[in-house]
Amino acid sequence: MRIILLGPPGAGKGTQSTRIVERFGIPQLSTGDMLRAAVAAGTPVGLQAKSIMESGGLVPDEVVVGIVADRVEEADARKGFILDGFPRTVAQAKALDAMLAEKGLALDAVIEFKVDEDALVGRIAKRAAETAARGEPVRKDDTPEVFKTRLEAYRSQTAPLSDYYAETGLLRPVDGMAPIEDVTRELDGLLRGLQPVSA
Ligand code: AMP
Repeated sequence: MRIILLGPPGAGKGTQSTRIVERFGIPQLSTGDMLRAAVAAGTPVGLQAKSIMESGGLVPDEVVVGIVADRVEEADARKGFILDGFPRTVAQAKALDAMLAEKGLALDAVIEFKVDEDALVGRIAKRAAETAARGEPVRKDDTPEVFKTRLEAYRSQTAPLSDYYAETGLLRPVDGMAPIEDVTRELDGLLRGLQPVSA
């Protein structure tokens, strides 16, 4: 099963990804996580991405496409994967299409988290506070100022993917404002419906 989770920052993609990983045994490929790891490790990609991420902008397509292309080659991604935070531009979506076509693979669904953007700022503030309370480092881009830029990047560059995938018939909207457990249940039903029925 190969799926994309689409939605603005704070929509619940990461939370639901973790649950899908547990239920369906496919890995979560989060470009945000991969880029943060590259920044922490000080790799050339990390050095290139660091200031862009801190300002809330998008890392260049070719950089992100490169890391995803490498990641989908890994053994654990062979039976499927959840793409979380990728693609984020139409150019990335086209690169993904080409990448999968080359391997004879296809996407099964693009899950779009529908959310009320006004509620997201509060969610992000809550995420930052909970992370700090656990004694973990808070993401530098989870401040209200940077969050605004991230939301703007979503509106202008990522939201057009909704139309892009609607045309393919793969788009499945879910109510991202519903309680976490309800979203999980909805996704569970949706994803079980995508799985091939075993004989
Ligand atoms: P996320 O963890 O998905 O919120 O991503 C955090 C930051 O990483 C974003 O604000 C971007 O700067 C960068 N990033 C993550 N995924 C992508 C992507 N697919 N394309 C460009 N930049 C990305």
